[in-house]
Parts: sequence; structure tokens; C-alpha cells
Amino acid sequence: MKIVAIKRKLFRMFILLIVSLVSHIFLQANAVALDKETHYLLNQKIVVGTNLDNYLKVNLGVTNGIKEEFDVKTVLEWVKEGGKKEDEPIYLRSVNHFHDPLATSLSDAGFSGFWFTDFLSGSSSIQWSQYPLGAQTMQVLGSGNYSWYDVRDYYYKALTSVNNLDRGNNYAETFRWLGQLMHLVEDMSVPEHARDDGHYADERSEII
Ligand SMILES: [Zn+2]
Repeated sequence: MKIVAIKRKLFRMFILLIVSLVSHIFLQANAVALDKETHYLLNQKIVVGTNLDNYLKVNLGVTNGIKEEFDVKTVLEWVKEGGKKEDEPIYLRSVNHFHDPLATSLSDAGFSGFWFTDFLSGSSSIQWSQYPLGAQTMQVLGSGNYSWYDVRDYYYKALTSVNNLDRGNNYAETFRWLGQLMHLVEDMSVPEHARDDGHYADERSEII
């Protein structure tokens, strides 16, 4: 091969390398975590797109389905609200929204704290969603209890309460829990949440 042809080939490879580097640096799309408003809208889209409305009417006798009001909000509003509330108060519940499926044990699968220091570390979201009855609020004071065991309790009370106010309050908590649990599942679609990658200063996403 002639020297000129070799030089031309090398030049083309060099240009290709530069184009690849530039496009990698400037054109890549960041996979950011979801902010509270996004969870709110996702929950709305999911509830409206599923059979929940019909299920409530046919199986539970909830006449207005997702438009039924319990404790001043509709079912749909409670589920949307739950999507937001799972991130409140800031920094505290969200440290429990991580799960690394490659971790060697469940106890090591959660968030390992700010910059891996153990400061504000959390449980794996699989564990967090299954905390014992009443245990979540002991870890995150005043933020409520929305584990699987808590909702079974709310749901049971909603179905068996003879007092209309208690029934309404427990249904409200049941549907808020549904929204809070949906938030945990949605977070698993974010690469940072399915690893141990904290995110601290991106205004587009939830913090941590
Ligand atoms: Zn979250």
C-alpha cells in the first residue's frame, strides 16, 4: 500500500475518533433520578391506565371508583399524593429507596450513605417496603408508616370499621400507601437507585 493511502486511512480513523469523543461528551443523555412531580404524574398515568377504577366499583362496592372521596381527597388524589410524600421529609425517607441486586446480602443492598461514609445510610427498598408494623415512623419521625404490614392494617380497618370516619381515614391511608409503594418501584427504573449511587445536587431530580 502506498504511503499516501496509509496516511489517508490514518487520518480518517483520527477524525472518526474525534467525532466519537465529542459526541460522547456533548450528546449523551443523562439518566437522572425522578423528582416528586414526576412520581405524582407517573402515579396518575398508571392509575388511570389500569383497572383500579373498575375493581373498586365491582369488588369493593366503592361507587365512584377512583373518584370516590375518603378524608377530603379522592382515591386518585391519594395515590398521586403518595408518590410525592414518599420523598418527604427531604433526605430521610429517600435514603431507603435504593436496591443493588448485585449486592452479596440484602443488608448491604441499600444506600451506603453520603459518599459511602455511612452518614445517612438506608435500608434496601425491598426491606423498607416490608418494615414491621409501625416501624418506618420510628426511623423517620413523623413521616408515617407505609410498609406492606402497615397497609394490611389500614386496609383491614377500612373494611371492618363500623365508624364512617375511621373507615374513610383508613381507606385514605391505604391508597396513599399504594402511591408510596409505587414510588419505590418507579425508583428502580433509575440506574442510580439500582446501584449505590447517591445524587446530591441535581435540581431536576429527588435528592439522594
Ligand atoms: Zn425515591
